[in-house]
Amino acid sequence: MPQVETVRGPVDVDSLGMTLMHEHVFVLNEEVRENYPGDWNEDDRVDDAIGKLNSLAARGCQTIVDPTVLGLGRDIHRIKRVADGIELNIIVATGLYTYNEVPFYFKFRFPAEDGTDPMTAMFVNDITTGIADTGVKAAFLKCAIDDEGMTPGVERVLRAVARAHKETGAPVTVHTHPQSGTGRDVVRVLREEGADLGKVVLGHSGDTSDLDYLSELADAGCVLGMDRFGIDVITPLEERVSTVVAMCERGYAGSMVLSHDAACYIDWFPQEAIPMFAPSWHYEHLFNDVFPALRERGVTADQMNTMLVANPRRYFSG
Ligand SMILES: [Zn+2]
Repeated sequence: MPQVETVRGPVDVDSLGMTLMHEHVFVLNEEVRENYPGDWNEDDRVDDAIGKLNSLAARGCQTIVDPTVLGLGRDIHRIKRVADGIELNIIVATGLYTYNEVPFYFKFRFPAEDGTDPMTAMFVNDITTGIADTGVKAAFLKCAIDDEGMTPGVERVLRAVARAHKETGAPVTVHTHPQSGTGRDVVRVLREEGADLGKVVLGHSGDTSDLDYLSELADAGCVLGMDRFGIDVITPLEERVSTVVAMCERGYAGSMVLSHDAACYIDWFPQEAIPMFAPSWHYEHLFNDVFPALRERGVTADQMNTMLVANPRRYFSG
């Protein structure tokens, strides 16, 4: 039985159960938080996360996959405190989140002549040895490309991630901007690096309803992240549902995963603004609104199980 690392240690992939493949716990600028703590209270925030994740578990979710890496405020000590208070599995990531340049820390730590990047060794260490002194191992790799496209910094991180994937076998999740077709750019570079595209989630693919684009990437072997349910300001619920229904009708249930890209706490926005611009952007929107809509539109229990259980299990099965 293949195993996958979680915050509480390795578990059989068969025990992952219903898995939401892209949910953050905390998204923070740690440097801002340290210097301008405002009303941040560590214990309150941890308790709040435990409450929200226990509610999610009560709906039937057994695992969340948290792609919070450098650039998004990864803090595994804080995540461990949350994991200790919940039944749910949390799977954590390594990698780097940027839409353009690499941080200065990396800028002058150059890749070698043969392309070997010092980032790769850091990512590999997180996967094979563990993250800092936490004893927690990352189980997948994360990077990003947005509407700025394949900038030199984005390409450097993507190639470093691909090499860590090849060295460890850990799967990959890439934040993409499907409206500008960046999933295709990711596939091109990952192919050059010899990555296993079956182990690659193209995150946020569900932001587009371009079925031919989605089919092309699924045919290339990639998993499509239909993973922003609740961010209706980018793509409304009805359009997200219709796209998943149409892709199921085309036979692509085996190539899709469902999630919200939500967080217990994200500091990108004033907290009071979030329920105003995105009232459904929380961990339970799938259960409240999306699953009933998909079932009503003819998505079968078998297809639901494929997207929520079987595809995540395959992704983490080595
Ligand atoms: Zn995300």
